[in-house]
Amino acid sequence: MTTNFRLPGPTPLPPAVLEAMQREMIPHRGGEFKALFGEILCLAREIHRTEGDVLVWPASGSAGWEVAIVNLFSPGDAVLATVCGDFGDRFARIAARFGLDVRRLDVPWGSAVTPEALAGALDGGAPVKGVFLTHNETSTGVTNPLPELAQVARDHGALTVVDAVSSAGGLPLETDAWGLDFVLSGSQKAWMCPPGLLIAAVGARAWDAHRSARFPRFFWDLTAARESAMANMTPTTPPLTLLYAYHAALQMITAEGVDAVWARHAAMGELTRAGIRDLGLKLFADPVYASNTLTSFQPPAGVEVDDLLRTLRRDHQVEAQKGQGAIADQIVRIGHMGWVHEPEMRGALTALGASLRSLGARQPLVAVL
Ligand code: PLP
Repeated sequence: MTTNFRLPGPTPLPPAVLEAMQREMIPHRGGEFKALFGEILCLAREIHRTEGDVLVWPASGSAGWEVAIVNLFSPGDAVLATVCGDFGDRFARIAARFGLDVRRLDVPWGSAVTPEALAGALDGGAPVKGVFLTHNETSTGVTNPLPELAQVARDHGALTVVDAVSSAGGLPLETDAWGLDFVLSGSQKAWMCPPGLLIAAVGARAWDAHRSARFPRFFWDLTAARESAMANMTPTTPPLTLLYAYHAALQMITAEGVDAVWARHAAMGELTRAGIRDLGLKLFADPVYASNTLTSFQPPAGVEVDDLLRTLRRDHQVEAQKGQGAIADQIVRIGHMGWVHEPEMRGALTALGASLRSLGARQPLVAVL
């Protein structure tokens, strides 16, 4: 029996992506590579809904925070970091380590950052050069209201730096229409690729900020990446196999249609939340802001998170994940992003009900499927 791989990243690879990775190496300064990379950048721009630049590095998503910091800011610059979970917290801590003057807007985990709260934080203090936003907080399963938050940030003259690691490719993301200045993501989530590619969309205001940003940088330098990208190349040896994979995935998303992909994610989110509720379980995220790329819930009293995950894996070949940070042992997270359809989600919900029953949970645990 194959594993029903329901982590909130990495995510399962579609057959076309797996097949693309079988391809032999090609010269990375030759015409074949340039045609491939040119098409990747073009498709990625379309899916990000931007006329601006999209750049790619061999790295995991976390590098995107560093790319943003060293390219758009200078030591001592004030920024506001919005924090509603573990990833927002990491972004804030990395910025502090680089010597930015980090102000924080913390909200309880499981809640979203609201435009009102952001406006309150920005109105109250000295101006900030940038606002850090986590589009989809993977540690809690919350999707923040990004268009509204970006509007508030812009109204206050701040750059919007967006962590879209678990949203890009799966949730509506309108880089230009929403006025997002820097959007970072990682290949291993809704992009349906293996881990290892950092993808960043960079808009005009970000380029303006970049020109006066004074951190030293080499590998992450935006100017170097853009100069190469203009020739459909990368400054250093590109991760060819990952780029073959990304190319295949972008073609799949384009063939399905970006709006259809977003709608499929919305349907998977609905289905999963309904199934969890039917099992009598408590969803963790504020329902108004529940994510359509992953769902988090609390196990019933008397059932430990680790036992539930072990039972799911051992008896049903379903891989899910626990929480992070302070809520690591309080919630379970089930991913439904990327290459995911109804049968896998229904299978996971059935397995969840059976696992809870075998662990002696008391609720009437029958998912209505
Ligand atoms: N930001 C978010 C929202 C994430 O979900 C993750 C990883 O899960 C990261 C950042 C860090 O990405 P990576 O683990 O690829 O470095």
